[in-house]
Amino acid sequence: MKMYVAGQWVDKPKKIEVTNPFDGSVVDTVPQADKGDVDRALESATRGAKVMARLPGYERYKILKKAADLLEARVEEFGRTITLEEGKIIGEGRTEASRSVQTLTLSAEEAKRIHGETIPFDGAPGATRQFGFTLRVPCGVVVAISPFNFPLNLVCHKVGPALAAGNSVVIKPATDTPLSALKLTEILLEAGLPPEAVQCLTGHGGEIGDLLCADRRVRKITFTGSRDVGERICHVAGIKKVTMELGSNSPIIVMPDADLEKVAVATAATGYANAGQVCISTQRVLTNRRIYSDFLDALRPKVAALTTGNPLDEKVKVGPMIREKDAIRVESWVKEAVGSGARLVVGGERRGTIVQPAVVADVKPEMRISCNELFGPVVAVTPFDSIDEAIALANDSIYGLSAGIFTENLEWAIKFAREVQSGNLMINWGPQWRADLMPYGGLKESGFGKEGPRYAVEEMTELKLVCFHLAG
Ligand code: NAP
Repeated sequence: MKMYVAGQWVDKPKKIEVTNPFDGSVVDTVPQADKGDVDRALESATRGAKVMARLPGYERYKILKKAADLLEARVEEFGRTITLEEGKIIGEGRTEASRSVQTLTLSAEEAKRIHGETIPFDGAPGATRQFGFTLRVPCGVVVAISPFNFPLNLVCHKVGPALAAGNSVVIKPATDTPLSALKLTEILLEAGLPPEAVQCLTGHGGEIGDLLCADRRVRKITFTGSRDVGERICHVAGIKKVTMELGSNSPIIVMPDADLEKVAVATAATGYANAGQVCISTQRVLTNRRIYSDFLDALRPKVAALTTGNPLDEKVKVGPMIREKDAIRVESWVKEAVGSGARLVVGGERRGTIVQPAVVADVKPEMRISCNELFGPVVAVTPFDSIDEAIALANDSIYGLSAGIFTENLEWAIKFAREVQSGNLMINWGPQWRADLMPYGGLKESGFGKEGPRYAVEEMTELKLVCFHLAG
């Protein structure tokens, strides 16, 4: 495919191959953007931002709604593209495409709801002759940098609210998975988006990222990806608005009164989807010692039943990881834990990019499969004795994106919600759960700012205060 810069589909002599993570075959190629392309994209986006700022909310609504409808008609095709470039199983590819329709529809609705509020100046001493209100205005040029693992829906979570709020947007998709974002750009243009309101630059973040993020023409950066790249962007960005959606090592706490069958089902469902490459995947299962071995007995067959293979095969439950080096890393972290006293309950073998879904028990908090973000199809199980110990273990992390607890006890559930340092808190389900309308984002080094169109629109706008000083 070509990339979309300054109102044109552009090719370059230098190409990047997009490969199928399952078999390494070339799915397509994309141009490799250089410094000149970044400059052209930002120049064009600056003009696009002026056009967007003049476009009424109802027009922005109509464009995004039409884009949602066009995408809905092509869900099967988009699901397949996602699977081919990312490696998630085809069912998950279709689900991501359908969720993206929701995300665009929700964004379209928000385009009609951007408003300020009147300010009660008469509540301030001596301010009886003032009358005023706030105005919400677009930021201008938004740079949207997205990760490989949800190549369509996470782009929609940035582009939808940015356009709904009246900005122009420069998309920088992950180099492993740029095709879904390029196809989305086609759809937005077909839906009537002004040609310079969107740019989609394909190229290595390590080469063009600093230029994009440091440029003064950019007023807002919305980033989803790893903690370390996020930190770099924060340093480079300078004085700009920034949203950071970063990683995690999300825990589940299993209390002694939990229904272990239900916990096992939830752990298998939330620990291995997309081969564990979900930012809110269940990574740590903190299990009360009284039910520890019963829980492992319930979990083992559920994980052993997760068949691996070609993600286009409808019967396969877990596909490949994105790159072989990540599969090698996951395999080596499992071996390292086992070498330090942990116990492999099931799985862990690697064939190329495929890692057999694994459960590792007796994991110590300081082992890498527990304290670092693993981002693979492995769950680490650790025993605890009291709820206070469980909460301390859950919080013993630089991250705080999502967490779950299984219990029927209200006191425990509320204590968990109050004391666990996490942006999302799930009672009686695993951490990997998201509805696209909800506020979504992490605490601690999992980032700051919220996604979910209603909340992201606030991040994509700036607030102005208007005050009338009346005569009498
Ligand atoms: P990544 O390596 O951090 O890459 C994310 C994006 O940043 C890619 O587009 C990448 O481009 C770009 N990039 C790389 N270096 C850059 C630089 N110096 N300046 C600007 N951009 C740069 O992350 P990933 O491996 O794609 O995704 C996995 C990570 O994302 C995990 O940590 C996961 O937890 C996190 N994640 C978080 C959420 C959330 O909502 N909190 C959701 C999904 C994923 P290239 O591809 O060209 O390198």
